[in-house]
Amino acid sequence: MIIAGNFKANHTFATCEAYLAEFASYIDESNADDIYIFPPFTALQAPLDKRIRIGAQNGYPAEKGSYTGEICLEQLSALGIDTILIGHSERRHIIKETQEFIARKFEFFKRNNFTIFYCVGEPIEVRQKGLESVLRYIDDQLENIDLEYPNLIVAYEPVWAIGTGISASLDDIEETHKALREKIAAPLLYGGSVNAANAEGIFASPFVDGVLVGNFSLKADEFSKLLKLSTVRG
Ligand code: PEP
Repeated sequence: MIIAGNFKANHTFATCEAYLAEFASYIDESNADDIYIFPPFTALQAPLDKRIRIGAQNGYPAEKGSYTGEICLEQLSALGIDTILIGHSERRHIIKETQEFIARKFEFFKRNNFTIFYCVGEPIEVRQKGLESVLRYIDDQLENIDLEYPNLIVAYEPVWAIGTGISASLDDIEETHKALREKIAAPLLYGGSVNAANAEGIFASPFVDGVLVGNFSLKADEFSKLLKLSTVRG
């Protein structure tokens, strides 16, 4: 299983440093295959334990240059970062990133051999119309995305389940992952209000290769519970 924590705009450099030290102490009891943490830019740092991989929540698709407020390849590479989240719903819906821009970002970081966590997921009004509508919506989010890219990890994150405390049902997760599996060979993660109470069922599903976790990842002792509950996929 892949266990990934997305801190969003939470934690400072100091609290993240303390988090990583504490989190490392739980890893010997972990059953996860791979562990990733995505801190905010100001907290990007090398982890004490190399079994924790650090990724960037975003990046501008350029080597460096006049992109005020952005962070580019040069800055990420200097920190040893080679993993990035692309297409997260908060960037699609709050920051208004278009599919055209997201695909450009994907191509750029693919060219630079980054491990890319690519997020897709539908809003509630689409889910209410049923699976076919969901799959059509996700198809649009896969436009111009190279699904054959070997360093790709896809996260299915229904918008209505992110940060709401209401996870998708296991049936919805499995049905959607099963359909996505027909076109996506890359690992398929689920994201959306995952916590210690619902993770076990999600990990038991043969259609799920891991989880991307927001709120529940913010406290090291809480998030570490998922490491134990996880199962080895190899
Ligand atoms: C996320 O932001 O990717 C996410 C899944 O958040 P949460 O776990 O808080 O729903």
